[in-house]
Amino acid sequence: MAQSFDMVVIGSGPGGYVCAIRGAQLGLKVACIEREHLGGICLNWGCIPTKALLRSAEVFHLMHRAKEFGLSVEKAGYDLDAVVQRSRGVAKQLAGGVGHLLKKNKVTVIMGEATLTAPGKISVKTDKGTEEVTAKNIVLATGARARDLPGLEADGKRVWSYKHALVPAHMPKKLLVIGSGAIGIEFASFFNTLGADTTVVEVMDRVLPVEDAEISALAKKQFVKQGMKIMEKATVKSLDRKADKVIATIESGGKTEAQEFDTVISAVGIVGNVENLGLEKLGAKIDRTHVVTDEYCRTGVEGLYAIGDVAGAPWLAHKASHEGVMVAELIAGGHPHPIKPNSIPGCTYCNPQVASVGLTEEKAKAAGYQVKVGRFPFIGNGKAIALGEPEGLVKTVFDAKTGELLGAHMVGAEVTELIQGYVVGRTLETTEAELMETVFPHPTLSEMMHEATLSAYGRAIHF
Ligand SMILES: Cc1cc2nc3c(=O)[nH]c(=O)nc-3n(C[C@H](O)[C@H](O)[C@H](O)COP(=O)(O)OP(=O)(O)OC[C@H]3O[C@@H](n4cnc5c(N)ncnc54)[C@H](O)[C@@H]3O)c2cc1C
Repeated sequence: MAQSFDMVVIGSGPGGYVCAIRGAQLGLKVACIEREHLGGICLNWGCIPTKALLRSAEVFHLMHRAKEFGLSVEKAGYDLDAVVQRSRGVAKQLAGGVGHLLKKNKVTVIMGEATLTAPGKISVKTDKGTEEVTAKNIVLATGARARDLPGLEADGKRVWSYKHALVPAHMPKKLLVIGSGAIGIEFASFFNTLGADTTVVEVMDRVLPVEDAEISALAKKQFVKQGMKIMEKATVKSLDRKADKVIATIESGGKTEAQEFDTVISAVGIVGNVENLGLEKLGAKIDRTHVVTDEYCRTGVEGLYAIGDVAGAPWLAHKASHEGVMVAELIAGGHPHPIKPNSIPGCTYCNPQVASVGLTEEKAKAAGYQVKVGRFPFIGNGKAIALGEPEGLVKTVFDAKTGELLGAHMVGAEVTELIQGYVVGRTLETTEAELMETVFPHPTLSEMMHEATLSAYGRAIHF
C-alpha cells in the first residue's frame, strides 16, 4: 500500500531539506525524496565545496605574502589532490549532517527518482523497484544544473562544467572561463591564485554583471592586478577540441581571434530540473526552464508548490531555504510573509570578495528614485590596514526623500560576512537615521558600513 504524507518534498537541497524539517517541526507527516545526494547541489557540488577550495587558495595567497607580515615560508606549494580531498571531505561531512537532521526531525527519507503521476500521487524509482507515495501537498525542490550552450558543452576532458572543475583531473596551465557570474569568477579566482594563466570572457559589458557598476570595476581592477585577463563584451563562438588543448574562437570589439587553452570552464548559467516530473500533465506552467510560481511559491495546481532553483532566479541557497520555510508554514496553516526579492543578499567568494543587497545605484535611478550615495574605501579603515587588506569599497544607496536604505554594495576582504548587517537593516526597513545611531565596534571592518552611511549625508569622519 502507498505510504501517505501531509507533505512530500522532492529534492533534498537547501530548499528541500529545510522545507521538510520546518514542516516536521510544525507537526506535519513529511517525506523527502532524493535521487542522488542529501544536501543537493549546494552541499555536494556548489556553495560548500567551492568555498573549501577557495579557502585553500586564500591560504596559499597569504603564504606568498608572508614577508609583509614579518613571517617566512620556505617554499609555498600545493598538492591539488589534497586540496580537492579537503573540499570533498567538507562536503561529505555536511551532507551527512543533513541526513542526521532529517532523521532527528522524523522526516522519512526515500532515496530514488520521483515522478508525479496524478494530483497528490508520486511514483519513486528506487534501487529496489518502484514505490508509490501519496501526499496532500507536494513541494518541488528539484534544483538546477549547468546550462550547456551549443558547441560549448562540457565534456569532462578539456571542457569542464562546475562539477568537473570541483574535482579537476589536472591543474590547468592556460585556462579559459566562459562567463563571469558568481560561479565563473569563483573558479577563475581559484585557479588563477594557484597559478593558472586565466582568461575570463564575458558577453556583457562588465564582469559580475549583476553587481553595481562601480563594484564590478573595482573587482576587475584587482583581478587584472592578480594576472587575470578579462575580455568584456566578448563571445566565445566555438571550441575546437584536441586531445591536449582547445582552440577557442573569441569575438570581441568586432574582431574574431583564435586562442589556445589547455582547459575551458563553461559557466554560462543554469537550467532548472523541470523534465520528467510529469508537470505538464498536471497543468503546472513552465517558463523556459523554471516552474512558474506566485509570491507564495504556489504553482496554480492545488497542493503543488515549487521552491529554490527550479522556481527561478536568484539561484541562491538562502533564497531556496527561505522559500522552503515559507511553504512549510503555509501548508501547516500559518500566514508567512512572501520573500522580498530586493532583500536577498548575493555573495561572491572570489578574491576580493563581492557582496550586495537591494538596488544598484543605476537601478535605483532607473526606478525613479532620487538617491543619496555613500562610499567608504577600505584604505580609511584601521582594521583593514591591520589585516593588510587596504583595497575595497563599501557603497550605500539611500532614497533621498525618505532615507530608506535601497541598496548596499561591497568589494573587499570579508564583505560576504559584513553584508548581513545591511540585510537586517532592510528587513527592519531602516533609514539612514537608525544606521547613523547604531554603535559599531572598533576596530572592525563593519565600521565602514557606518562610514558609508555617514558619507551619503556628507558626515564621514575617516575619509
Ligand atoms: C559551483 C556552485 C557554487 C555555488 N555557490 C553558491 C554560494 O556560494 N551561495 C549560494 O547561495 N548559492 C550558491 N550556489 C547555488 C546553490 O547551490 C543553489 O542555489 C542551491 O543548491 C539551490 O537549492 P535547491 O534546493 O533549489 O536545489 P539543489 O541544491 O539543486 O537540490 C535539488 C535536489 O533535487 C534532487 N532531484 C532533482 N530531481 C529529482 C527527482 N525527480 N527526484 C528526486 N530528487 C530529485 C537533486 O538530486 C538535488 O539533490 C552555487 C552553485 C554552484 C553550481
